[in-house]
Amino acid sequence: MAFALSTFLAPAHADTIIDHANGYTLTAAGALQRFTSLGFDDLGRVIAVGSEKDTAARLPDAQHIDAQGKTLLPGLIDAHGHVFELGEIASGVDLFGATSLGGAVRAVAEFSRTHPKNAWIVGYGWNQEVWKLGRFPTAAELDAVVNDRPVLLHRVDAHASWVNTKALEMAGIGKDTPDPAGGKIERDATGKPTGVLVDSAMELVNKVVPLPTPAQARGTLDNALAALAKVGLTSVHDAGIKVAQDDLYRDYADHGKLTTRVYAMIGDTAGDFDELAREGPLKSYANDVYALAAVKLYSDGALGSRGAALLSPYSDMPSTKGLLFYPNAEMLVKMNKAMKAGYQVNIHAIGDAGNRQILDAYAQLIPQYKNVQLRHRIEHAQVVAPEDIPRFKALGIIPSMQPTHATSDQNMAEHRVGPERIKGAYAWRTFLDQGSRIACGSDFPVESPNPFEGLHAAVTRQNNAGVPAGGWYKNQAMTMTEAFRCFTLDAAYAASQENVIGSLEPGKWADFILVDRDIFKVAPEQIGKTVVLQTWMGGKRVYKR
Ligand SMILES: [Zn+2]
Repeated sequence: MAFALSTFLAPAHADTIIDHANGYTLTAAGALQRFTSLGFDDLGRVIAVGSEKDTAARLPDAQHIDAQGKTLLPGLIDAHGHVFELGEIASGVDLFGATSLGGAVRAVAEFSRTHPKNAWIVGYGWNQEVWKLGRFPTAAELDAVVNDRPVLLHRVDAHASWVNTKALEMAGIGKDTPDPAGGKIERDATGKPTGVLVDSAMELVNKVVPLPTPAQARGTLDNALAALAKVGLTSVHDAGIKVAQDDLYRDYADHGKLTTRVYAMIGDTAGDFDELAREGPLKSYANDVYALAAVKLYSDGALGSRGAALLSPYSDMPSTKGLLFYPNAEMLVKMNKAMKAGYQVNIHAIGDAGNRQILDAYAQLIPQYKNVQLRHRIEHAQVVAPEDIPRFKALGIIPSMQPTHATSDQNMAEHRVGPERIKGAYAWRTFLDQGSRIACGSDFPVESPNPFEGLHAAVTRQNNAGVPAGGWYKNQAMTMTEAFRCFTLDAAYAASQENVIGSLEPGKWADFILVDRDIFKVAPEQIGKTVVLQTWMGGKRVYKR
């Protein structure tokens, strides 16, 4: 009877084989490998990759799914994004598409009218560069449409906030409020705040915004997960979380609701760090669905708001060199704390002075802690002094870079740093040629989370509209195979997960996608338009078009 009972209890189709696929994966060395059939077991582990005969021999009782010749790829990985912020955008004012100051103000007015119950009007994505304004927008321009409720609008790079007078009042920001360290309150000639807060000054308003309710937080995460599965991301590195988000990730992981893997970084060594780090790095949780093994720190701001720290003045504003968030000694204290607790340390550095500060600190701390195996990272590594680029390789630092930043920033970046320093900016080819592994991402929601737009930017150095013709500093482009590796295996490597995800081989999780075109064969301008048909994570389908 025992035999009959166990037969009865076994699921009808425990194992699955996808046949007739135009499959691509990577070898451990990063070479492309073709296959037509992928087999995985009921736990979601890859058992066999090869021909239909190979997989059938290994999994004789599997259910078969016909891919009908569609292209099958390992699930893509975004090594730097902000998951909750992505989800929040869906519930705020969307200013990513605003092409003028007037258009942005009208969008705020319209949102305010249709959301009378929101205590705060929150929005995302404004960019005064696109508006050709030559200055920041002002509180007065928002007051004209909303003056009874606070308005808080995050700049596209998340390094500046535009607020109305009500928000300034609620935050207690006035003429006498000093600029906080690492931040700036934009002011008029009389010293009166004009409504834009840069870098750490944003916190003055952020801290008076009510926290989301648990139901709102769940809605936000659901929005984000749906958006990620839709574009074929089966893993993302969340660049800075707090206790509430860690709780929610674990809860979703426990209940099988985390449809994209999350490798999270604790946001700073202050605040929630002690609570989150009590048990040390969490390398894997719930079958590698979640991990919390890194700490995110900031060295400087961003180029757009001239908050990135440069070694010499900005080319388009010689009165400033930008800002380091912390003096070297204070930065060392933060990094020391994270390293002492055993975490991978991932530090935002955009300007050449920001990058140098962190490289100097790593050069001191990594030998001291003998922890090069933690694969510490510099996030963005956007403008690096040419003589500092080899130090990434020598110190074992991973440059975590976002191809779409280069193609979105192209004109602005060159204005900011001039024709000479731009040669060490977004310098993917230089990093690859010296043997650095680049972890690619998008910094969503600063850029679209769609990794095919990233792959397109990586190989063409053009934005989605194909600008500029011939590519922007095309000599720094990646090959398609390199870009693919940076969005899969090398992004996994940057989370020490290359043995469980990043390619399709026996023993790894069956994280894969089916797409509508062969990205290795189509014309480069077609790559960014790729449509994801299905997304599978751990052997389960989490999205179908
Ligand atoms: Zn970021």
